[in-house]
Amino acid sequence: MSYVSPSTVSIPARDLLVIGAGASGLMCAMVAGRRGLSVTLADAAARPGGKIAVSGGGKANFTNLHITPEQYVGADTAFCAPALERCTPQDMLNYADRHGIPWEEREHGRIFCRVSARRLIEALVKDCARAGCVMLAKRAVTAVRATDALFTADTDLGPLTARHLVIAAGSPAWPQAGATDGGLRLARSLGHSVAPVRPVLVPLNMPREWALHGLEGISLAVRIRVRDHVFADHLLFTHQGISGPAALLASCRWEPGTALEIDFLPERRFSELLDAPECGKLLVRSLLSRHMARRLADKLLPPELAARKVAELSRAARTLLHATVHAHTVTPTGTCGLRRAEAAAGGVATREVDARTMESRRCPRLYLTGEVLDVAGYLGGYNLHWAWASGKAAGESVGA
Ligand SMILES: Cc1cc2nc3c(=O)[nH]c(=O)nc-3n(C[C@H](O)[C@H](O)[C@H](O)COP(=O)(O)OP(=O)(O)OC[C@H]3O[C@@H](n4cnc5c(N)ncnc54)[C@H](O)[C@@H]3O)c2cc1C
Repeated sequence: MSYVSPSTVSIPARDLLVIGAGASGLMCAMVAGRRGLSVTLADAAARPGGKIAVSGGGKANFTNLHITPEQYVGADTAFCAPALERCTPQDMLNYADRHGIPWEEREHGRIFCRVSARRLIEALVKDCARAGCVMLAKRAVTAVRATDALFTADTDLGPLTARHLVIAAGSPAWPQAGATDGGLRLARSLGHSVAPVRPVLVPLNMPREWALHGLEGISLAVRIRVRDHVFADHLLFTHQGISGPAALLASCRWEPGTALEIDFLPERRFSELLDAPECGKLLVRSLLSRHMARRLADKLLPPELAARKVAELSRAARTLLHATVHAHTVTPTGTCGLRRAEAAAGGVATREVDARTMESRRCPRLYLTGEVLDVAGYLGGYNLHWAWASGKAAGESVGA
């Protein structure tokens, strides 16, 4: 594997310099290298694909069977369509198959490796090497300049030059994996506008007075509504609020001050359970705890109704209980921030980038791919798929 350490200082001008050996940078370098371009791939980290390695709990949820632009957040999600059309989920499954990487489909069409995500990184790195790419580790690019013919990228170990440049440096989410806002700063320095960055796919914190604190560890299937968006998945109570897929999905559409409406019994109608003759003798809390953890039922129900017999409830009480279970409303105080976020919304304005090629409309021969753009996907393999698709689009277009 030709992953070159920092000792390689002087490299002649190349056709293409890719900044960032993450998901989109590796894909882009591989595709461009296979087309015969001379490619240098420089990464600040010691090892490529840091976020791929931690993704999907180490098993990389690397694509989804139901990819459409509607699963993305950004100023113009239609921007994603041309690249997604040219890189399908099947293409990524074929890629895994060709490299003998076993995968499995989980709920909601989510595709995970059945082995370590590192196998995916190794496959990409090997393919980049076979395609003749020179890969440089520990090469943080601190500044870039464009002249008529060449880009010059400054690094601690000397400049790198190339006729074309791809910024594939990701977003500042999850800095533990080496993520910074470096890519956004480089894009800005070349004339791009950047939409404000905010953490998404991130746990949400709840107000101190929230009635449902103290349930950490409990997980259940829920439906969460945020404004006009509804997400059905599992929710996990945490010390500070909520996490789990449903909460992470909700965070994609959450803005400060926005209330969430949580349905804790999405597959049943509590009013029907309350009206069922065979349930009349049960206490309300006993009935509800047949369908969720007792500790949750106890905290959710109004104390004055929890210990009443179902048969004794007035119509108004039944309506109130139904709303309590199916439309629990709470306004989070905030998110757990970029440190706990699997992605960042915001980034380079997509109106300044050609959706078919990922080429900048501001700076010719500059390309932008992956999460550095104002495109963030829902939980479920959409972010990695966007990285593959946008990396491929750029790799196919550079110098064409
Ligand atoms: C914990 C976690 C779990 C996730 N799980 C999933 C999942 O299961 N499925 C999914 O679809 N998505 C998942 N994601 C999101 C996904 O990993 C990212 O969206 C995706 O990796 C973005 O690809 P990218 O190429 O844009 O950037 P990255 O993969 O982040 O790569 C950017 C690279 O650029 C390098 N770099 C940055 N600045 C510079 C610089 N100045 N000079 C040189 N190099 C630089 C970085 O070191 C990094 O290697 C997860 C993210 C996290 C944090």
